[in-house]
Amino acid sequence: MDNPDSTLPRSEHFTLEVLADGVYAALAIPQRGARSNAGIVDLGDGALVFDTMLTPQAAIDLRNAAERLTGGPVRYVVNSHRHLDHVMGNAVFPAEAQVISTARTRQLLLKHGPESIRTQRQMRPQSELELREMQDQLAAEDDPARREALHEAIQTSTLILEAVARWKLRAPNWTFEKNLAVYGSRRAAEVICLGGGHTESDAILVVPEAGVAFVADLLFQGQHPWAGDGHLAEWQRILGEIEALDLRAIVPGHGPLAGPADLGAMRDYLTMLEDQVAALVAAGGGLEEGATPIVPEPYQALGGPDRFTRGVRVLAERAISAQKPEPKKSNGQAST
Ligand SMILES: [Zn+2]
Repeated sequence: MDNPDSTLPRSEHFTLEVLADGVYAALAIPQRGARSNAGIVDLGDGALVFDTMLTPQAAIDLRNAAERLTGGPVRYVVNSHRHLDHVMGNAVFPAEAQVISTARTRQLLLKHGPESIRTQRQMRPQSELELREMQDQLAAEDDPARREALHEAIQTSTLILEAVARWKLRAPNWTFEKNLAVYGSRRAAEVICLGGGHTESDAILVVPEAGVAFVADLLFQGQHPWAGDGHLAEWQRILGEIEALDLRAIVPGHGPLAGPADLGAMRDYLTMLEDQVAALVAAGGGLEEGATPIVPEPYQALGGPDRFTRGVRVLAERAISAQKPEPKKSNGQAST
């Protein structure tokens, strides 16, 4: 937790970075409650917050940080896309704050959100059991490294269990289609939707005067992206359009700060993913036989390899069912 600027608010969930005057990134600390990165923009007469993290505990720190950094209330909260780790903190922001997303993201959140929350709550007994098992393991463990890892896993599980119990879905109340510009007394910010790549609808936040963009999950740094809800060709097109903007710094949805070159690297990754999906589709029966795609050499150091495996399988399954003229549910695998 090396925070170079000791005057910045601190949180156990994220590290704040100053990107430009009045523009801050809140970078999630791994294994804590944030899970995804967020942004704070000082508009001059209040704050705009971009994405609200996974847990209310992290979101409370985010709200406090925004209020302290800007000396004003949070007036706008923007949700980049429908995934819970970007929206579940919405409820802790002031009731007067406008919660903004694309119209499609609002629809998708209302469609999938309650079910996702229910699923997480149904998993609670299982999660509590796993937590108790880890506590037993910790009590019996002597190796310091394994004790440290177990201790961290226990902390994370405890945080998530608490969060799931407290979750309240607050849907965006203000929607837009393509662009929304917010003009504050000191600076302006633009919310832009270039279509759907990572999900059916993805919005980014650009602070033009600073050359900064918050691109959420259109960019993952140092880890495999989740692509199972995405559209790979559209995703690559959108990254190309972001590359054409005049940007100095880019805040990804997950991982450390990035620059324009990382957008190209992400496109290369998605090309690789397309090839993997095509290979699995060509193998046809591979899915039923449980074929596991192997992470190619240059990407083996990335975190979250299960996202790669699941993503390739989900996208291949979708491509195969799209090829069939009459989609018949084969083995009860419901896909959304
Ligand atoms: Zn996402």
